[in-house]
Amino acid sequence: MNEENIREKEESRSPVSFIEQFIIDDLKAGKNDGRIHTRFPPEPNGYLHIGHAKAICLDFGMALKYGGKCNLRFDDTNPIKEEIEYIDSIKEDIHWLGFDWEDREFYASDYFGQLYDFAVDLIRCGLAYVDDQPAEVISSQKGTPSKPGLLSPFRNRPAEESLDLFERMNKSEFDEGSRVLRAKIDMASPNMHMRDPIIYRILKASHHRTGEKWKVYPMYDFAHGQCDYFEGITHSLCTLEFEVHRPLYDWLVEQLRTDDFRPRQIEFNRLNLTYTILSKRRLLELVQEGKVKGWDDPRMPTLCGLRRRGYTPEAIKRFIDMIGYTKVEAINDVSLLEHAIREDLNKRAPRVFGVLNPLKINITNYPEGKVEEVELINNPEDEKMGKRKVPFSREIYIEQEDFMEHPPHKFFRLAPGREVRLKGAYIIKCEDYRKNPDTGAIDEVYCTYDPDTRSGGNTSEKKVKGTLHWVSAPHAIDAEVRLYDRLFNHEDPAGQKEEDFRKFLNPDSLKILRGCKLEPSLKLAKPLDKFQFQRVGYFCADHDSTESAPVFNMTVQLKDTWAKINK
Ligand code: ATP
Ligand code: MG
Repeated sequence: MNEENIREKEESRSPVSFIEQFIIDDLKAGKNDGRIHTRFPPEPNGYLHIGHAKAICLDFGMALKYGGKCNLRFDDTNPIKEEIEYIDSIKEDIHWLGFDWEDREFYASDYFGQLYDFAVDLIRCGLAYVDDQPAEVISSQKGTPSKPGLLSPFRNRPAEESLDLFERMNKSEFDEGSRVLRAKIDMASPNMHMRDPIIYRILKASHHRTGEKWKVYPMYDFAHGQCDYFEGITHSLCTLEFEVHRPLYDWLVEQLRTDDFRPRQIEFNRLNLTYTILSKRRLLELVQEGKVKGWDDPRMPTLCGLRRRGYTPEAIKRFIDMIGYTKVEAINDVSLLEHAIREDLNKRAPRVFGVLNPLKINITNYPEGKVEEVELINNPEDEKMGKRKVPFSREIYIEQEDFMEHPPHKFFRLAPGREVRLKGAYIIKCEDYRKNPDTGAIDEVYCTYDPDTRSGGNTSEKKVKGTLHWVSAPHAIDAEVRLYDRLFNHEDPAGQKEEDFRKFLNPDSLKILRGCKLEPSLKLAKPLDKFQFQRVGYFCADHDSTESAPVFNMTVQLKDTWAKINK
């Protein structure tokens, strides 16, 4: 990218993150021949969550913005936990976010041969050795940051012996755990990762791509930096916990490289969210234990869960843009994410009428059998979205909570003797109501309407304080609506080290309502179609939905009641 272009990009957004500034500086300094090449390196051991989206937006976003490339590289160094299902889901989710790796879909396992050869070279140079001690003994010899570790009795065995053993480790001659290959660096280093780290272990598992070929597998730390080097990655962006691993990655690449090139690793803070757990391992436990209904349960912070819940890629990107990238670990308020989706759907979701807890209204002076079509605006934020017709008749439904038998003074909805406007239609007045003699619940409310008050008509000057949404009873679609609340009722469920995170599962995170009444236009809704149920919230059709049994998920309420309750 040329200098003028860089300056243009630099000025187009402010403030740029410290990472972007590093990239700009490197490009200006002409490093890597002006190339920018990043990668997103997921381990295929679970579905992606919104934390990964933060990394994806940076890896792909920076490459896109500065005319570079971003690889997708699966870090499949552990054959035991990895599955094809996860690989497919990861690709689908990255595409959904709007990013593409073109033909650059790589796997750490593509480099197993090169990595093995490099390990052999290290042994030859006296920079690695086979240790015959079990892992527990090795870790007990590590020392503490202030106290040097013990030298392994195998540290100085001849290179030929290590070479022979390493080859035989890979021929299945030894048991898992009986021997490892360690880099010979510095057992007194203040950085624990430099104290002769294990770089290869024996695993007699079948690998999803290399099958039975290998019996030794590289440790993540041995594969990661070298893979970046092999792929010509210029900026290796990762989360802060890898900062302490950087000297090891640099040391390894230093032994490996045959030219001036070396990747630059830059770390940033992880995304953490209140009331949320972002750890594939724990999310997997929730799935396996049936605490949620799969990885795409709309309460999950996974990208597929958020998608099913009704989130858009735009809202997720906007949220990530708002929180930014720093060097300080923090926990972001999930309300900000909810704000982002509200803002996005406000612009794009058509308004419709949906009554979640129906109460029947009988308009006694409205002619029986008569149906009028009232015209309603689809989205006041966007005129182009047009208008629709909604049937109105003598029997309608309103929300139960919009009627009170003994209302307080400031209740501007329906109550005995009071008037409200039915949005887009008429003003009605409550004349009477019928109660269920056994339960005391209100069964039906009797109203009269004023024919001169039709919305948009010339004589509709009459003013009332309350406007309600409604659905014509004979035209209504019966639907199931799934209401979601936060999956955890503790602000930091992962941070309570003394207690199991399951203890903080919110028992009321899912509420299923059946017999909800929706306006007939919703018959055409397809899975993932998004709507604002007016006065209630944003909803989207679920993929369980059928024409005869529609199902809608609540994405988010219109207003943030949670923040208020918790004040
Ligand atoms: P988890 O802890 O959820 O299992 P992970 O870090 O083990 O996540 P990887 O598949 O190794 O998951 O991550 C791929 C990339 O995504 C890494 O570069 C990692 O730094 C980044 N990443 C993972 N979680 C987050 C997060 N919460 N915020 C930002 N980036 C993340
Ligand atoms: Mg990981």
